[in-house]
Amino acid sequence: MTSQTVLRKVFGYDGFRPHQMEIVEHLNGGRDAFVLMPTGSGKSICYQIPAIMRPGVGVVISPLIALMHDQVAALRQNGVRAAYLNSSLTAEAAAQVVRQAGDGQVDLLYVAPERLLMEGFQALLARMPLALFAIDEAHCVSQWGHDFRPEYLRIAEVTARHPEVPRIALTATADVQTRKDILGKLDLTRAASFISSFDRPNIHYRIQLKDNARRQLLSFLHRRHAGHAGICYVRTRKRADETAAWLRDQAISALPYHAGLDAQTRMAHQQRFQREDGVVVVATVAFGMGIDKPDVRFVAHLDLPASMEAYYQETGRAGRDGEAADAWMVYTLADVVAMRRLQEGSEGDAAYKQIQGRKLEALLGFCETTRCRRQALLDYFGEAYPDRCGNCDNCTHPTQTWDGTVAAQKALSCVYRTGQRFGAGHLIDVLLGNATERIRRLGHDRLKTFGVGTELDARQWRSVYRQLTAAGRLAVTDTAIAGFRLCPASWPVLKGDVQVQLRKDLHPQKQPTQTKKTAAQTALPLADEGDQALFERLRKVRLKIAKADSVPPYVVFHDKTLREMAVRKPADRSRLLMINGVGERKAEQYGERFLEAIRSHPSS
Ligand code: ADP
Ligand code: ZN
Repeated sequence: MTSQTVLRKVFGYDGFRPHQMEIVEHLNGGRDAFVLMPTGSGKSICYQIPAIMRPGVGVVISPLIALMHDQVAALRQNGVRAAYLNSSLTAEAAAQVVRQAGDGQVDLLYVAPERLLMEGFQALLARMPLALFAIDEAHCVSQWGHDFRPEYLRIAEVTARHPEVPRIALTATADVQTRKDILGKLDLTRAASFISSFDRPNIHYRIQLKDNARRQLLSFLHRRHAGHAGICYVRTRKRADETAAWLRDQAISALPYHAGLDAQTRMAHQQRFQREDGVVVVATVAFGMGIDKPDVRFVAHLDLPASMEAYYQETGRAGRDGEAADAWMVYTLADVVAMRRLQEGSEGDAAYKQIQGRKLEALLGFCETTRCRRQALLDYFGEAYPDRCGNCDNCTHPTQTWDGTVAAQKALSCVYRTGQRFGAGHLIDVLLGNATERIRRLGHDRLKTFGVGTELDARQWRSVYRQLTAAGRLAVTDTAIAGFRLCPASWPVLKGDVQVQLRKDLHPQKQPTQTKKTAAQTALPLADEGDQALFERLRKVRLKIAKADSVPPYVVFHDKTLREMAVRKPADRSRLLMINGVGERKAEQYGERFLEAIRSHPSS
């Protein structure tokens, strides 16, 4: 069988995605590979197909038990002889897996790194033929990242005992330091590298001003994601609980997820997210690792993420199936101030703070940019993206800029003259000449800046303060109540040495929520209501099967596959097999139930 045939018969896919075939052939030829591709690009198939084709067992080292379960469940659905060995198995079940592997009845064996290092397991490796070693989430060898796993450092010791067995290391973590670490620590410096673009073309990026976060979220959900699964990220546990409760009051099936919930509740919520259709999880950053759900249609940030890396990783959980998905975020001046305070008050030496400061600058700059978001995002990861993407807010609704030099000077000078301790509310009152009780008491109505800013309204001044803070032209105080103070980068503005370009904010209410359909969205539209109804019906069939087999629905078939069925309406098994995503095993197991649903559907 060729690799193409395996792809078709086992996985039901028509063709390889970029790099997949090269990598498969490379491993089939017995050579090592390093694979750096973004989440959702299809890295798993790169080792799964060679493990199926080559004699012996393919050993997959994976750090997360939850991921192992899902991968093995999905492979078995496709009729692949896959198994895992980890601490969740009883001694008997583990012994059975070991026996089967030893007898040559397993093509893919998933293990945690701890298991790999055990003597008993090494003895097993020594007595069975090996197809390959795959080291998944290979960035876990690097202390630079946040997922460092010390056991990963010893993987190379084990693989060194099997020099004839090809190895493949895979990761979606892009930065150069981590990349070097992986090659060095896994002893893969001579491996061929396969690096693909970090672009996620099907994700639409949009960042708006926060006005009333919940209402904005609700309107976003109603307009674009009714009945869809998604993740909302918030900063605090309390906010996760409250937002989820509020969404439930609005008839959205939302669940909280954070480290404050007991393990059982967390597990239950995660399972519902994976197994039911259309669950929205409101989570702190604790959610996401180890969740391999391909049909997450949106990721919403109600608070700023910790960094650009975090933003990329969190938004990357949307649209792994390649269908259109949204990365949507709202933020406001208060968030910018809060982030600045957090960073300045953080523990750590000066060098660490400096790095954190730069990271925050990059994130805030990204929020404020008028460039194509995709260009800016990829730029941060060192990748050039030549043209505007056409699938982000700044591309579809270009933002106007204005020369804010004079306004910036007034705003900064007001900070200076009021003693560098007040927040935006007070400063704006001064600029607008509002002689409030407080202003009179403090004598701020006698300042030179009192009333010099009537050309802008309060909202516009807020925007000026936000943009100056985001750009690092203004610092925040570390006093109990946040105020602004000048910093070295304020002075060139005050002295007139630099020009300040500001973006014209759109009113949150007036911001566009509907975007042009992109290529990804129109891939295979459901032409009429009949198709739509059939699609819904097929989803029900799928849910029933998933429940009976206790697997998530997408393990049975992806939405994309069901949609294709609803449009093409295959009449028999052989036509069904022509649908992308239907392999032989699934056609045999469930085909009849889907064909039956299609046949009995009125329009077909
Ligand atoms: P990664 O590990 O890179 O995050 P996965 O291996 O989980 O990505 O693949 C993401 C999704 O893409 C999976 O649902 C997978 O079945 C699907 N996929 C992979 N390769 C192909 C292909 N050649 N054609 C269609 N779908 C594919
Ligand atoms: Zn763009």
